[in-house]
Amino acid sequence: MVHISSNDISEIIRHCVEETPNEACGLLIGRGDVINSVRRARSQIPSPFEFTMESKDILTIDQEADTEGLEIVGLYHSHTMTEAYPSPTDVAACPDDRWFHILISLKERPYKVSAFRIVDRSIEEVTISLSGGGDRSQGDLWTL
Ligand SMILES: [Zn+2]
Repeated sequence: MVHISSNDISEIIRHCVEETPNEACGLLIGRGDVINSVRRARSQIPSPFEFTMESKDILTIDQEADTEGLEIVGLYHSHTMTEAYPSPTDVAACPDDRWFHILISLKERPYKVSAFRIVDRSIEEVTISLSGGGDRSQGDLWTL
């Protein structure tokens, strides 16, 4: 299970919608299975089909997290035309077995949000627990 506030999910959705038609990506900051905040990152070559996170952004965000006594616990990205499920490219590019992957599908409304871990190239779905009691002001826009 991974804990994240609905405000953070809404921020991820906003970012993903803004990047359309290209895939958006960013990092999840927290500790253990709790996500405290989300940070936008840039894709090296913006594309509707894949993303490669800008390494400078990863470094900057990692340092910011460290300053706050937190760490990078995962990443998020969007699929603009396919399901919220890791693609073979996502599996091959998985940087860390412990990372959570939050996927957003913008294929249809309400946008679908799901979470995974990719351990030894196998995909495990992770339950998302909405924490922090954030208001679902954009509640009709996305669904778990
Ligand atoms: Zn993907």
